[in-house]
Amino acid sequence: MTVFESVQDAIGGTPLFRLTRLGAGIAAPVYAKAEFLSIGGSVKDRAALSMVLAAEQDGSLRPGGTIIEATSGNTGIGLALVGRLRGYRVIVGVSDRSSVEKSDILRAYGAEVVVAPAALPKQHPDHLFNVVRRLAAEIPGAWLANQYDNPANPDAHVRTTGPEIWEQTAGRITHFVAGVGTGGTISGTGGYLKKVSGGAVTVVGADPEASEYGGGDGSPYFVESIGHFVHPETVEDVWPQSFHPEVVDRFERISDRESLLTARSLAREEGLLAGPSSGTAVAAALRVARTLGPDDLVVVLLPDSGRSYLSKLYSDDWLREWGFLEEPGGEPTVRELLGRPDGADLVTVAAGSTLGAALTVLSGVPGGVAPVVTPRPERPFGLSGTDVVGSLAAAEVEAALAEGRARPTDPITALRGRPLPTVGVGQPLSAARALFEAGHPAAVVLLDGRVAGLIRHAQLPDGR
Ligand code: PMP
Repeated sequence: MTVFESVQDAIGGTPLFRLTRLGAGIAAPVYAKAEFLSIGGSVKDRAALSMVLAAEQDGSLRPGGTIIEATSGNTGIGLALVGRLRGYRVIVGVSDRSSVEKSDILRAYGAEVVVAPAALPKQHPDHLFNVVRRLAAEIPGAWLANQYDNPANPDAHVRTTGPEIWEQTAGRITHFVAGVGTGGTISGTGGYLKKVSGGAVTVVGADPEASEYGGGDGSPYFVESIGHFVHPETVEDVWPQSFHPEVVDRFERISDRESLLTARSLAREEGLLAGPSSGTAVAAALRVARTLGPDDLVVVLLPDSGRSYLSKLYSDDWLREWGFLEEPGGEPTVRELLGRPDGADLVTVAAGSTLGAALTVLSGVPGGVAPVVTPRPERPFGLSGTDVVGSLAAAEVEAALAEGRARPTDPITALRGRPLPTVGVGQPLSAARALFEAGHPAAVVLLDGRVAGLIRHAQLPDGR
């Protein structure tokens, strides 16, 4: 049995597990590197330790100092663990798209947590990056870890993850598959494996379909911590310097549904309880492995544990609410209403519209209410549930114009109501009925996290 003199020594050094069930019938062996077995529970322990040690060495972090970071959660957990061990105050900014479990874990390790809204353009003062930058400027002795541009992040993987995999596979690895968040993991590990193999290892990025890294439109998606989301109002967008795109030979683009369901299979069939980004990575790895032969060897990296997502992808209710889960049989579900002609064409109002333009749009809508959405030039993946930012009712616009409270050239902003409630396509009709009885005029129907239509009270089988 291993004995550690310091918890820090239990960072990394994670085992590989062969995927025997999900990989059944595939000639090339697929091994999963279980980063959730690192002491802080994720791959980011490695980057956190590496960045703290580098900052101590170059003098940017001194005794009594404060560590500050913006993170989807795991880097913060690593920084909290390492930082508190080494005597620092730790402040972590997370987005409201990160799971609540991660914030709870951060607090448990002694970090102070600041939550910022995810749906903001980068230049907005309340964007997570600006919030932590301000804190770092205001607090004496503060050091901003900045995993996105900190070379000690990819370097952690050049020194540890890469060599571990090379040694564990006795140099037999031919393909390395991982997701890309800051890019530290894939750049450092992939870069090392390419170098040590003389260029023989192929590096595959596993990316959410909508993410910009693999060629998506940057619209929202449901796998947290990987991919590149771009708010449509972002003025200047740059990719992290921790990501070295030249290391990635190609991307496999994976839908939210496939990522979430693959993660669930990983737990149920392989006994590996991992997070959604592990689902993306494994789905990509299996796709890659199916094209390979018995002499190839695929290693896929599982960044964190499913325990941080019990309220999300491991909750049947959550999956059903976002339209990822439909169970045949039982009570009639919302899907039944979607096929009806009056629910079919979804009309939306762009958030930047004028009242006059919006009224023209609303005039053809049954019930006279439509979702207000963030404008995006193109939506190849449809409208995301998180793109819906409000609602607008024709009756209210007409009244405001008639009473002279507003003019047709005014923006809709003042009359914009709260977003219509959403209901997953697999939820029972009783769930929709409860929303209407609570006074909502309509509900947005979600399928795979995307907007599939609008339903109104009058559509329920026994009408109003
Ligand atoms: N998956 C999870 C769960 C993560 O927390 C992260 C880190 N953001 C990643 C994947 C991506 O790792 P990296 O930042 O090294 O690209």
